[in-house]
Amino acid sequence: MSKNFVVAIDGTAGSGKSTTARGAAKELGWFYLDTGAMYRALTYKVIRDKIDYKNMEALQEMLTQTTIEFKFEPANNNYVMFLDGKNVNHQIRGAEIDSMVSHIAAIPQIRAMMVKAQQKAAQGKNTICEGRDIASVVFPAADLKFYLDCNLDERANRRKKDNHPKSTFHEIRNNLIERDYIDSNRESSPLVRVADAIYLDTTNLAIEEEIKFVVDMIKLRLLTEKK
Ligand code: C5P
Repeated sequence: MSKNFVVAIDGTAGSGKSTTARGAAKELGWFYLDTGAMYRALTYKVIRDKIDYKNMEALQEMLTQTTIEFKFEPANNNYVMFLDGKNVNHQIRGAEIDSMVSHIAAIPQIRAMMVKAQQKAAQGKNTICEGRDIASVVFPAADLKFYLDCNLDERANRRKKDNHPKSTFHEIRNNLIERDYIDSNRESSPLVRVADAIYLDTTNLAIEEEIKFVVDMIKLRLLTEKK
């Protein structure tokens, strides 16, 4: 394969994008770019350092003093998020981040910086990138595009089981509704389903089936590209 292959995955919160993208990237040995983790890391820093993010000067100052990078951890065969040189993978997944992240991610200055960083991170690598604006803004020329969705109650159930045992089903469900609303209605690069994205409803699929579907589609595209 001569050029780098980029797969863009967008979709609603908790629809299975991260699990599917990570699993497919592992199977293919490709770079997995979790753009949600980048917005989560910035949100974590805003909360931790009590940054007045509505004050553009304070925000700008924070952004110039922030580094966000993914490092490959061979022990886990996984890419891990580092904020200012520290592994923050655990800290960025809590309920407080969930309730704040869409507000931070709606700020145009933040998005401009993140989009550039995402495009740079994927340079020279076969990449599976997932988020909200990947097929529309970050990689509009991606080789393959997917849009994932899933029934709301099922998404809330999965979240409760996976990472939020302390939050109630209704708290999680409400957070998913709120995030989808803000993400789809913001002015700057909202969540959209682009016309050329393959639509996948994961409601009745097991994780292995979602991963297999995406990997099979990628392999098929690679085969047709070679001809
Ligand atoms: O994917 P995840 O749920 O971790 O993303 C957290 C939040 O980050 C989303 O709800 C959204 O507000 C924001 N996000 C975004 N654009 C992306 C990825 C995530 O606005 N490309």
